[in-house]
Amino acid sequence: MSGIIQLLPDHVANQIAAGEVVQRPASVVKELMENAVDAKATEITLNIKDAGKTLIQVIDNGVGMNPFDARLCFARHATSKIRQAEDLFDLHTKGFRGEALASIAAIAHVELKTRQAQDELGQCIVVEGSKFVSEEAAVVPKGTSFAIKNLFFNIPARRNFLKSDVVELRHIIDEFQRVAMAHPAIHFQMYHNNSEVFNLPSQNLRQRVAGIFGGKTNEKLVPIAEETELVTIQGFVTKPEFAKKTRGEQFFFVNNRFIKSGYLHHAIMSAYEGLLKDGCQPGYFIYLSVPPQSIDINIHPTKTEIKFDDEHALYAYLRSSVKHALGQFNVAPVLDFDRDANLDTPYDYQYKQAVLPTVEVDGAFNPFGDAKPSKSYASHKKADAAWESLYVGLKQDTDTLVADPSTNEWQQVSEMKFESEAVTSSLFESQDEGTSVSKTYQLHKKYIVSFIKSGMVIIDQQRAHQRVLYEEFLTSMTVHQAVSQQLLFPLELYFSSVEMALLEELKPSLASAGFVFGDTHQDRIVVSGVPVNVNGSEVSIVIEELLADLQQGIPGSSFSQSDSIAKSMARSLAVKTGTYLTETEQENLLNGLFACKEPDVSPFGKPTFLTMRVEDLDKKFSV
Ligand code: ADP
Ligand code: MG
Repeated sequence: MSGIIQLLPDHVANQIAAGEVVQRPASVVKELMENAVDAKATEITLNIKDAGKTLIQVIDNGVGMNPFDARLCFARHATSKIRQAEDLFDLHTKGFRGEALASIAAIAHVELKTRQAQDELGQCIVVEGSKFVSEEAAVVPKGTSFAIKNLFFNIPARRNFLKSDVVELRHIIDEFQRVAMAHPAIHFQMYHNNSEVFNLPSQNLRQRVAGIFGGKTNEKLVPIAEETELVTIQGFVTKPEFAKKTRGEQFFFVNNRFIKSGYLHHAIMSAYEGLLKDGCQPGYFIYLSVPPQSIDINIHPTKTEIKFDDEHALYAYLRSSVKHALGQFNVAPVLDFDRDANLDTPYDYQYKQAVLPTVEVDGAFNPFGDAKPSKSYASHKKADAAWESLYVGLKQDTDTLVADPSTNEWQQVSEMKFESEAVTSSLFESQDEGTSVSKTYQLHKKYIVSFIKSGMVIIDQQRAHQRVLYEEFLTSMTVHQAVSQQLLFPLELYFSSVEMALLEELKPSLASAGFVFGDTHQDRIVVSGVPVNVNGSEVSIVIEELLADLQQGIPGSSFSQSDSIAKSMARSLAVKTGTYLTETEQENLLNGLFACKEPDVSPFGKPTFLTMRVEDLDKKFSV
């Protein structure tokens, strides 16, 4: 009598396994790149089309496979990396499960070309959904190339579940970076839709980190080196003054394998205690080497957690070596947040105190400047100083100009001022006289209370301002061109090559939002104009947060780029809870909110205000 239990056919088992191993194109990238590293390649190229949805190809110059292995590598539990269970405790390779290729081949079209150095001919194999479609000897370069096409072709639900290209590409780049960072001696290249994203020649660790993150990364790094019996710690942390609002570049590698660890992250953060501004995060690139026997990585293949034998000691070593490095490089004293900015003003400029009031229309003026005192103050100071130096120049050349502000030069200056005044129309300038709002009050620097006929209305200032800004940005991006204010002193912003590539893609939308970009270089972009409601000093933060938001995907946002940009900028720029608002600012916020199309929710779907009618109050008092 036969029972009801059956063994699943291999291709079904593989497809099920694939669900765990391959979540998205980036998972394939990770597996293929790790295989190439295990194959001792010195050159690895990743070639991506349409964020991996059309093609993921990894080409290496490693040891290659003979025709027999080339076929066998697609079988489940086929691996050359371990032979017996004991080997698990002494792993020196990335892979060992022999599962990846079988899984990938079950849910995609795979073309493998491979040749070993000593062979004249190589092998070319095509597998589609676990079926061998063709197999033949071929003239191919030494090494291995895996091309994965039509990922998830037989699992439409999975395919539909993929995120936008920007998000999927971000995941791919993350995996690429992790492998590239763990192996600086290997030459890595990455192309997306035939354009080069990375070209990282064989280099040392510091060059590799700087090569990947570009810009001025190198000068931000503080090296770390510590050797104990338990662990060798190497790598870099960033100087505290370069800490960012977004979490950004934080990496741990254990025996050249990227891992995540909240516990070790905490060790680093605690080493920075007292050195960081509120909510800011340092970058770090930490490489730990431990004896393979002291860790357990034999967990889920796609997980990046790891178990250490002696976590506590590791925590302590890491914390103290970061502290030591920060102290040694004497970075602490640089961080004088409360420094009196007047001290930075050259003495010659002091006299112009008298002229300052005429500079009333600073393009970067923002009534909410108080929200971020140190930052906006610095920028105002810079702008002012710049005006001053303009003035100083005039003074040197022609003294009379100073005395007589009606000369042409002065005309010119005031014209410039007038121009920026003309376009500065912030929400908080007073609007129509005929405003219907009665007196407003601010409660706990968080809510604005005002009265209406039927009772009162309580507004959440941060959410309300998000709504106002969101609609403003969206309108300027989709309906009419935004008004820009020209920055008197264009800003140079530095970004990694990935961010630069993303910015390039976003440029048209950002331009329609009011950003004006000047020259673009490999690692930096010049911003010469900004939307009227953006303060000059906030530009870098806004763009930084925008890039982070777009790469991570904004919750609840559609695929529309303008929508995402408007949401991200509204969130960055909105006045925050805890900011004092003058009465005029309160009124303007109120008017602005009720002029919106959808005043009752923030762009993120949260309520912006509530009303309390007199009857509601009556009820509460009637007990
Ligand atoms: P694992 O890496 O866990 O062994 P995989 O399914 O990723 O399992 O690969 C199976 C086997 O195929 C590997 O053990 C290796 O022998 C061979 N292989 C895979 N990729 C390459 C490559 N790029 N070059 C040489 N051999 C490879
Ligand atoms: Mg593998």
